[in-house]
Amino acid sequence: MHSKSVPIRTRFAPSPTGFLHIGGARTALFCQLAARATGGEFVLRIEDTDRERSTQASVQAILDGMAWLGLDYDEGPYYQSERRERYQEAVGRLLEAGLAYRCYCSRERLEGLREAAMAAGEKPRYDGYCRDRSDRPEGIEPVIRFRNPLSGSVAFEDRVRGRIEVENAELDDLVIVRADGTPTYNFAVVVDDIDMRINLVIRGDDHINNTPRQINIYRALGAEPPEFAHVPMILGDDGQRLSKRHGAVGVMAWRELGYLPDAMINYLARLGWSYGDQEVFSRQELIDLFRIEDVNRKASRFDTEKLKWLNQHYLREGDRDQALAELLWHMEQAGFNPASGPEPSRLLGVQAERFDTLTELVEQSRSFYQDFDDFEPGAAKKHLRPVAAAALTGLAERLAEVDEWEPDALQRAIQETADALGIGFGKIGMPLRVALTGHGQSPAINQTLWLVGRERSLARIEHALDWIAARTAAGA
Ligand code: GLU
Repeated sequence: MHSKSVPIRTRFAPSPTGFLHIGGARTALFCQLAARATGGEFVLRIEDTDRERSTQASVQAILDGMAWLGLDYDEGPYYQSERRERYQEAVGRLLEAGLAYRCYCSRERLEGLREAAMAAGEKPRYDGYCRDRSDRPEGIEPVIRFRNPLSGSVAFEDRVRGRIEVENAELDDLVIVRADGTPTYNFAVVVDDIDMRINLVIRGDDHINNTPRQINIYRALGAEPPEFAHVPMILGDDGQRLSKRHGAVGVMAWRELGYLPDAMINYLARLGWSYGDQEVFSRQELIDLFRIEDVNRKASRFDTEKLKWLNQHYLREGDRDQALAELLWHMEQAGFNPASGPEPSRLLGVQAERFDTLTELVEQSRSFYQDFDDFEPGAAKKHLRPVAAAALTGLAERLAEVDEWEPDALQRAIQETADALGIGFGKIGMPLRVALTGHGQSPAINQTLWLVGRERSLARIEHALDWIAARTAAGA
């Protein structure tokens, strides 16, 4: 068994048939942590042998997702599509040694076997018809099958699941090269993991049934199999396998929803792994504390509330530069120019504690960057009433004199205006808030003033006063 002193060399091997999913990202994170924790290496390999389903756009989406999360790797990306000679060489060796054979069985024959097995209530398996044939029927491009041992068993010690043993009698002769010459997953993965000197394979447990087959192929190729760690799947909050039905399953969709990379990483690490009851982990802590053996055997449930809680934590207390970079990205997405309002770092300082996600934060900060003509009707009706006119007028005069436009001075200016008019702070606060933002929700009123800035604040108060005057004139 590996201890912290044996450097783990592992790989993440996504098939580029979509974007980077939550489950894939978690596997990649576990790979990265296992490698870093032992001073080993983390390799990225793109499994693009399925030429029909693999796309360049998907490769890019996976690379983007990993980059965004900070899942940097030490080697790669390698592409299976560029390694064809390696597979040909390996299959040539197996054919020569009699450990693989050409199979000419027609689709109809295989279909017949399948139907017969199903009818008998058995698992469909290839019956070995071409195992020992020596003729080479004309005009048929054969597939190549692996000659799986007929007797004995394959056993391995999974580092998450424990000991697993399967009888060879249960495994049939797997197709390792298709008729078009492309290798199948189970074959390419073994050739690659041997070539890339992988000593620990970490992957989803949907592959657990492939592992005994792959171990036989390692041995046939004269290689010692690596160790394996199969991580359990992720379920939605209803206990069903996480899928589109549950909302965002792509990592970048979570970016769009306003989550920070550090929050995602922290969340993904805890999805199936734990260390006591600690919830918040820095990246360094994860590296120091992570052990693949501590990954839970049971499936874990995706919990959006917890992710939200972590995001709020990282917005408030996490890496400022990261939050700021994301904030700018969101502003651009929302179509406003960060230069047309307060310094984004200032905005973040005020707003971070008020929202769980950057999407909400940005949406609720629009009025600091963009002017508006109309007030939100409910808020205006309630707060921009004739009685508010005197307060707003007095305030505008007093604010024009404030030397330094900063929160403490602004607080004093509002208080003094309220005192001079003999009204409560609240009577002034709400009309002012609606005047400044167009609606009723904003940070503390002195901070709101601070963020909106002097000129804009005075112009907006003026605008609100005009609005009140028009309303009064209309007798509304
Ligand atoms: N390409 C496979 C997948 O995406 C990789 C499985 C493995 O890691 O061996 O499921």
